Amino acid sequence: MRCRILGAPVQDGAGRLGCEMGPSALRTAGLVPALLALGHEVEDLGAIQPAPREQVSHQNPALKALPEIVAWTTAISEAAYQASEDAMPIFLGGDHSISAGTVSGVARHARKVGRPLFVLWLDAHPDFHTLDTTTSGNLHGVPLAYASGRPGFAGTFPDLPAAVDPTRICTFGLRSVDPAERLALKESGVIVHDMRAIDEHGIAPLLSAFLKRVADEGGLLHVSLDVDFLDPSIAPAVGTTVPGGATFREAHLAMEMLSDSGLVTSLDLVELNPFLDERGRTATLMVDLTASLMGRRIMDRPTRSHSGGY
Ligand code: MG
Ligand code: MG
Repeated sequence: MRCRILGAPVQDGAGRLGCEMGPSALRTAGLVPALLALGHEVEDLGAIQPAPREQVSHQNPALKALPEIVAWTTAISEAAYQASEDAMPIFLGGDHSISAGTVSGVARHARKVGRPLFVLWLDAHPDFHTLDTTTSGNLHGVPLAYASGRPGFAGTFPDLPAAVDPTRICTFGLRSVDPAERLALKESGVIVHDMRAIDEHGIAPLLSAFLKRVADEGGLLHVSLDVDFLDPSIAPAVGTTVPGGATFREAHLAMEMLSDSGLVTSLDLVELNPFLDERGRTATLMVDLTASLMGRRIMDRPTRSHSGGY
């Protein structure tokens, strides 16, 4: 497979500084060599530059860094559209606000090639606030609502070239959902597999049902992996830790199933905050999970991957 790496060093969407260093940490943890070792062709395009900042305002006074995130969304969306043309883009965040750009850009590509886009959102949070409902004002809480065409973004965020059908979005691993998001998820038809569902049924049947649908409809699949999908005990480097996350084995199982499906056409690795990491172990885990998604098998995994203490 041909992969394109795009850095999106955005930290203004999160409540804590540090995600700007995410792309560097993922590169330092060996993302590119891991992909090359699996036989992929890798082109590292470096960092996306934000578009010129424009005057934007909104009636919600809580919103933070709105002009900055709008400028990033414009640039990331265009970069995602271009990079999807003939390769699999892998976006290195940056906080999760980058996905307003990555998903909208990939959706525009999907529309061009006449295939439905599906989104798998691996996260403790649905990031399904609108500009009106967020009370924290941190814009990493809105990208999925924006990309799926929820009302309230028009005139503030860039015009959506192609909205993702909410019934083609699967949120996986949720365990922190605000009341306004809960209502909006229900109303929109987004598939919700929260941690309780995973506890009751397990990763495999829930994920394979979704993957079957993607395959049956001939869809493209965008995967958005937020570090806080994982349990904080194995992945401490995130500003929004929530206890009770995916275990090492659950996360690798999900990645290997995605790999087996052959359906994944684009990927976000987001919310890594290296300032909060412990000797790079979260960055290393994110690289190992990416390698699993890209074809590395458990039997092939070098022993040193397990010597990091997690
Ligand atoms: Mg998130
Ligand atoms: Mg999250």
